[in-house]
Amino acid sequence: MDVDNSRRSADAVPALAGCQEHARCLESFGAAVRELLELHEQQWFAILDGDFESCRFDILIHMANERKLSAKYAYLRHVETHGCSDFNAFNQTRARSHHG
Ligand SMILES: [Zn+2]
Repeated sequence: MDVDNSRRSADAVPALAGCQEHARCLESFGAAVRELLELHEQQWFAILDGDFESCRFDILIHMANERKLSAKYAYLRHVETHGCSDFNAFNQTRARSHHG
């Protein structure tokens, strides 16, 4: 799979790629944020569809928010304990997201 390949090739150049654990934490944080955004979008479409009682989204959004927070804290804890701060990875993640 593509993900596996990119992960292997990233392993080959650890010094140039910066802290990989940092990038991994940031990636999962970004994925959690995107998941949350998608759920909000789906909830909005459900509301447009007349589904004002879409409690399922409240639960899903709550769970996704928990994941986002734990990913954020894992990221912050890593930066704090490891002392690394890879802003190139940060910029890449920002560039991939839909928000400008
Ligand atoms: Zn690190």
